[in-house]
Amino acid sequence: DKLKESKVYMRALFDYTPLEDKATPCQEAGLPFKRGDILQVVSQGDQTWWQAKRVGDCNLRAGLIPSKQFQERRLAYRIKLGTLQSSKSPNKAVCEYFTGLRRSFRLSRKDRRGSSGEANVSDQNDTEFLIYEEVTCYQQKPNERHRLVVLIGSLGARINELKQKVIAENPHRYAVAVPHTTRPKKSHEKEGVEYHFVTKQAFDADAENNKFIEYGVYKENLYGTSIEAIRSVQAKNKMCLVDVQPEALKALRTAEFKPYVIFVKPRIPESRRRRSATTSPGGGEHARITEEDLQEMRLSAQQIDQQYGHQVDRVLIKEDTASACAELRSILERLERETFWVPVSWVK
Ligand code: 5GP
Repeated sequence: DKLKESKVYMRALFDYTPLEDKATPCQEAGLPFKRGDILQVVSQGDQTWWQAKRVGDCNLRAGLIPSKQFQERRLAYRIKLGTLQSSKSPNKAVCEYFTGLRRSFRLSRKDRRGSSGEANVSDQNDTEFLIYEEVTCYQQKPNERHRLVVLIGSLGARINELKQKVIAENPHRYAVAVPHTTRPKKSHEKEGVEYHFVTKQAFDADAENNKFIEYGVYKENLYGTSIEAIRSVQAKNKMCLVDVQPEALKALRTAEFKPYVIFVKPRIPESRRRRSATTSPGGGEHARITEEDLQEMRLSAQQIDQQYGHQVDRVLIKEDTASACAELRSILERLERETFWVPVSWVK
């Protein structure tokens, strides 16, 4: 009687296996899902168990999923348990606690400068649980601003090269946001084309005033991409492509930019017993690549997937540069035509 029929759509931000859930009133009635699945929540009438269907699933019957409040409550409880345990003997709760924190940390300005992306474990108020995100269908209207295309890549993906190639093929349609740098201008370079060349003082002031979506140090010079640089590409009615450290994703996920996030990872061959020469994944020119290199690449992809996977719209497995470019091109073309799920807060 109190059941409210709703048609709310949620993107799942975690994997759920009802058969492993001891709290469920009926394991058989549970709806299993994976992170990234879109769930149509047909009833939020019960405080603890919602009823939902997976979008794109032929199964017409709804199943039980934990409500957001309930999931939040039990995660918070596990954290509490975790903090009460000795950290020397990490049990499952402690591990989940740290995984949860790592996934949900917010970088301070200072942290953002480094590339390490260490979690700020002490600040518990920043903890936000990854449970569901309410989403809605969105299709770009003909004279609407293009969505920002954000490329993130794991070790060996060489996303800058991909980005440059796709733009070079179609410079009227796609463009990069021109970064700022404190390094001296080279003779062939033009202000505002390759970079905006600025002094260290000017750069620091901009950074202080949150003008950059990301910045970093390279060979003792500062480099960064400003929000204005993205806006100025969009004002020309071009699609703006940026490649950033995944730490920048959070700041970019706004209604203004409606970022479409593509995670590029090189196809990494299976372990080989012999350490022999092979061609580099991603079509690189490195002649020799060791098992250790491959292991590092696997780890890098795994870490990004774990920490940022919930913010990724599309994974692009890069076999070689040419095929990855072709795939990226086709993704960009579809982005203007097709309908995508975006957070409800982006569409008013
Ligand atoms: P170059 O000085 O040779 O033009 O660029 C050197 C390096 O600066 C690039 O390979 C890249 O790693 C870094 N870089 C260029 N633009 C940016 C940017 O907007 N942000 C960051 N973090 N690094 C950049």
